[in-house]
Amino acid sequence: MAITKKQSAELAKQVFQYAPAPEAIDHIRIQPRYGLFIGGRMVDPHSKKHFPTINPATEKKLAEVSEADEVDVDRAVKAAARAFDSWSRLSPSRRARYLFRISRLIQERARELAVVETMDGGKPIKESRDVDIPLSAAHFFYYAGWADKLEWAFPNRRPRPLGVAGQVIPWNFPLLMLAWKIAPALAAGNTVVLKPAETTPLSAMLFAEICMQAELPHGVINILTGAGKTGSLVVAHPGVKKVAFTGSTEVGKLIQRALAGSGKKLTLELGGKAANIVFEDAPLDQAVEGIVNGIYFNQGHVCCAGSRLLVQESIAQPLMEKLKRRLSTLRLGDPLDKNTDIGAINSRAQLEKIQGLVESGVEEGAELYQPECRIPERGFWFPPTLFTNVSQSFRIAREEIFGPVLSVLTFRTPAEAVEKANNTPYGLSAGVWTDKGSRILWMAERLRAGVVWANTFNRFDPTSPFGGYKESGYGREGGIHGLAAYLDLN
Ligand code: NAD
Repeated sequence: MAITKKQSAELAKQVFQYAPAPEAIDHIRIQPRYGLFIGGRMVDPHSKKHFPTINPATEKKLAEVSEADEVDVDRAVKAAARAFDSWSRLSPSRRARYLFRISRLIQERARELAVVETMDGGKPIKESRDVDIPLSAAHFFYYAGWADKLEWAFPNRRPRPLGVAGQVIPWNFPLLMLAWKIAPALAAGNTVVLKPAETTPLSAMLFAEICMQAELPHGVINILTGAGKTGSLVVAHPGVKKVAFTGSTEVGKLIQRALAGSGKKLTLELGGKAANIVFEDAPLDQAVEGIVNGIYFNQGHVCCAGSRLLVQESIAQPLMEKLKRRLSTLRLGDPLDKNTDIGAINSRAQLEKIQGLVESGVEEGAELYQPECRIPERGFWFPPTLFTNVSQSFRIAREEIFGPVLSVLTFRTPAEAVEKANNTPYGLSAGVWTDKGSRILWMAERLRAGVVWANTFNRFDPTSPFGGYKESGYGREGGIHGLAAYLDLN
């Protein structure tokens, strides 16, 4: 029986309530206190210092982790240097076997890793379950395939590993960033000292267990927890031959300065302020999904987030209406609930940074839109936010907010879109929404961004290189490019 127009209008107004669907946590065993993973086993820190890691959705302590000092860093680098002698000489196909084994173990422990990632970092379980963990396993799987094919990857060169790699990663994709760093380093025959971010150390601690389960030779991977000071000790250690850093532009610059003249190879994956550009011929409903995924995925804690929406003037009004309607359907709350779209902000400090920048947007005259949503009493939360009437000079259009906040600007011609998109010190990613293939190519040629997505956003694949221009850093991770960063090819 066909429904009447009136019934259809009533249905459209209806709000669907989801029953709670929390992921079980009874299978998770988080130890009360973790040591440092050095030389193939967990050891107590020389510093004797520990610090708590909390669940940002509840503010409850999950565990204590160690704070590595200078002596701990030295022990870890020496363990990695000792392991390098045999690891770099091991037959490449045997190195590959270890990487395949790690990939397999990540898959086997996927549910546990997803829950821990969500509890420690605040991201929705559907994201850690469907994106972070499968992509981490895929990275190890992909680079395992390259380990015995380096001569084919770089024909007419003599690829040789560099030695100990010092790697420092941020908190937005803890296990995935670990995989991006460790998998190519090991495939190329290097050994590793890695420091996870201070607010999200737990998946790295589970990964240390995976290394033991995989019977990885001792010292090939060492994991040191701690804050910025520990990170600076790792990158500055003279035994480290290659540094890979993902984090803020500010710290990236400090590291670049500290390493100048040291001869260490350096790659930097830093911040971003990506333009997501929608032309009038784009499929609007699809574009709305892409915009939402571009900026509200992982609470906007994404270096390549589409935080500046550039809309062609002729469609600005209908697109805003659709976008606001879509925002009102996003579910904010318990990150462990399988229906949650927006989880907790990673830390109080990050929440304060977002709040400060949003206040500046209001003060500078932008128009704020936030859908009605219930904010839980405990924990760190920020509703999905949209700013219109934004001028290019506003801080919210220039600075990386790293939160669920979208700034909307308009343009009339493709040339103006390019001009505005490139008007930023960053250059990590961009998105183009249009029906015309020729326009996609025209735009991609002109956008100064390491990745340009066409009619999609935030798509990742281990085979595809990722990295920035300008203040978004240099060097590439992923694909063959990611291997080159860990090899001496001269
Ligand atoms: P951050 O720079 O404060 O910290 C990143 C890591 O560096 C942490 O492990 C931290 O302990 C460590 N660190 C801090 N000071 C250090 C120092 N002086 N020397 C060495 N290590 C130090 O950044 P964050 O707030 O953790 O992460 C958010 C930033 O990361 C954002 O700017 C985001 O855009 C960027 N990011 C970039 C990418 C990319 O691929 N380009 C990916 C994810 C995140």
